[in-house]
This record gives sequence, C-alpha cells and structure tokens, in this order.
Amino acid sequence: MSNKFLQQLSKIKPVHDPSKAQGPYRTSLIRATRAGTIFTFFFFMFFAAVYWFSKFPLFAVWVNLFSVLCSLIGYLIVKFTKHYRPAAYLVTFAIYISSAGVMLVSGGIRSSSAIWQVYVPVAAFIMAGIWAGIRWGGISLVTIIIFFIFDRFGLVEAVSQFQTTLSDLFLDLSGAIAAVSIAIWYSDTLKSQSFSSLEKSKEELNFFATIDPLTNTYNRRYFLEQSQRRIHRTRSSNGLAAFLLFDIDHFKNINDTYGHIVGDHILKGLANLCINNLRPDDLIGRFGGEEFVILLPNTEPGDARRIAERLRMLVESTPFQTEIGPLHITISIGISNMHQADTIVLLDQLIFRADKAMYRAKQEGRNRVIEWDQSIA
Ligand code: GH3
Ligand code: MG
Ligand code: MG
Repeated sequence: MSNKFLQQLSKIKPVHDPSKAQGPYRTSLIRATRAGTIFTFFFFMFFAAVYWFSKFPLFAVWVNLFSVLCSLIGYLIVKFTKHYRPAAYLVTFAIYISSAGVMLVSGGIRSSSAIWQVYVPVAAFIMAGIWAGIRWGGISLVTIIIFFIFDRFGLVEAVSQFQTTLSDLFLDLSGAIAAVSIAIWYSDTLKSQSFSSLEKSKEELNFFATIDPLTNTYNRRYFLEQSQRRIHRTRSSNGLAAFLLFDIDHFKNINDTYGHIVGDHILKGLANLCINNLRPDDLIGRFGGEEFVILLPNTEPGDARRIAERLRMLVESTPFQTEIGPLHITISIGISNMHQADTIVLLDQLIFRADKAMYRAKQEGRNRVIEWDQSIA
C-alpha cells in the first residue's frame, strides 16, 4: 500500500450521524426530500386556495403561498445540487411556519392548524434523518408551549380574529393522518430499497474478496484462510489431510503461440474440470498465474496419490475447448501429506513442501506426480 493511500485512509472519520452517510442511505434521503418538496408544493397550494375561498384571514393565505415558494426552492436545490439537507430543512420550515402562521390568526393553540406541528418532526426525520427530527421536534414543542402560555394570559385574542370550526378540525385532522401515513409508507419503501441495495453490494464485495474472477476458484488469500480452519478441524478429529499443488506444463508456449485469450479459456476449462471432479469437502484455489492448489481433508497419503494421479490423467486426456479448437495440456503435481506423527502442522510448511515436490516433478520431465519426502530439500 502506498503512503498516499494510507494518508487518505487515516483522514476517513467514523460516521456518527446516519444522515451524513454516503451511498444507498443518502440516495434514499435525497429521494425522500425530492418527494417531500413536490408533495408540500401542491399541499400548500391547496391550503392557500382553501383559506382564500373560505374567507380565512388573508395572512393565512400569504403564509401558505410563502410555504409554496419554500417548497419550490427546496425542490430546485435538491434536484440540481443533490444537497438534500438544506432542502429538507427549508421544506420542514415551510410546514412549521404554515402551521404556526395559521395558528396565530385562528385561535392559537385551540386552532386545528396546531395538529400540523406533529408533522414537523416526522417530515424532518424522513427527509434529513434522526437528528433533524429531534431538532425540529424541539422547535415544535417550544412553539406549542409558547402558544399555550399566550392562551393562558389571553394574548391570542389580540391577533386572532378567527376561530376554527368543526370542518376545519376535520380537514386538518384527516389531512395530517393521511400525510403522516403516506410519508411513513414512502420512507419505509425507500429504506428497504436502500437496505437491499446494501445487501447486494455486500454480496458482491464478498464475492470479489474470495473468488478469482477468471476461474471461479478461491483466491490465494481466502484459500489459505479456509485451509487453516479445515486443517485445525481435521487435526482435532484425528484425521489427515494433503495438499496438491499443480502447474500447467509449458503454458507460456500456449500463450505465445495462440494468445492470452486462448490461455484464459484453458485456465477456465482446467478449473472447471477440477471443480467437477473433486469431492464436496475438497478446496481448490488459484495460487498464481497458472498454478492451482487443492486441499484434500480427511485423506490418507495413499489416497492423495491416487487422487492426484487420476487428476493428472484426466487433464492429459481432456481436450480443452478454445476458439482455435480443442487443445491438450499436461500438469505437474506436487503432494505434501500430513502424517499421524506430526504434532504441530504448519500450513506454510505443507504448502512449501507441495511446491518443492511440484518443482521436482518439473525437473523430472513434467506431466507427473511427486510426493514430498525427506530427500526433497
Ligand atoms: P513450466 O512447465 O516450467 O511451468 O513452463 P511454463 O511455460 O508454464 O512456465 P511458467 O509456469 O513460469 O509460466 C507461466 C506463464 O503463465 C506465464 C504467463 O504467460 C502465463 N499466465 C499466467 N497467468 C495467466 C493468465 O491469467 N492468463 C493467461 N492466459 N496466461 C497466464
Ligand atoms: Mg507452468
Ligand atoms: Mg507457473
């Protein structure tokens, strides 16, 4: 890893506020805010019209038109800058001010418009996350308390020329219930979409962290990690295990003669052949360019040799389909066996021995199986 990369890593700070998160959650908040701005735009238009035709004080009409403007600005901000937070705050403010403004001219805390104060933290939470919801909840609460105190001291009558009627109460109550229900449903839909998209990314990451994309076998790191576990398990049940390490013979010639694409087809074909002919418990990984390693758990030395020999003959007799027609290859296999007498078995040592045995197989003429023993240094 380069120093520059490490420096960049050290600058990344943990995210404590979920609304500052990136990725699918942020996308869901952007979509919620955009929907919120559109919804409130028509909503305030509707209420401005209702107040106009029902001869409400003109102030109520103006305050709703002001909220329409806030929604429009919020929509433009989120659409063109993707900064959902200022837009979300602006729309929440529009809901707040429309409710508080109408309350002011229609009976204060006794006004049916007070119901909409409940919607303020809900809207803030859905569009800008938990902390925005808490902040706006505090603001709404303080507002309601102030209106209550005003009412107690008889101050509301001074500005309030209008009392809300039963039909106002019905309109505001049913509107608020519908708005809260729709907002909760929409926000939940967006969140479950963002969760499934996160889940999908996790699966993809997991796949690329463990699988070699060309051959669909495990990559070196994951193979070693899994082998370590399997060896421990095999050892604790008093079983034996063996490693087969093999490399294609004169593979460079194939690449040089027919090109890398043909070479890649052979690698894929070879990996498939191995996967289809191994037992479910066996593990196969791509160790290097055209070098593979197989862990055979619960396998006695004699069986390991038989399996390796069978694999070698299978590869030798299989025509691998490529774009220039079928090609034949051979492989050299090195085996390292775990023995009953081994008290401590080191994974590195077993792989090292298999590697040495494989090179001995190359030296002795290729297309053969060699088992590690003391004579191989
Ligand atoms: P030997 O019998 O001694 O193994 O001879 P070799 O030619 O196979 O020699 P070596 O194992 O060193 O060759 C490795 C070659 O494998 C070099 C490179 O061209 C090829 N190779 C490595 N990775 C890939 C790959 O992903 N795709 C393809 N097509 N070729 C690869
Ligand atoms: Mg080779
Ligand atoms: Mg090689």
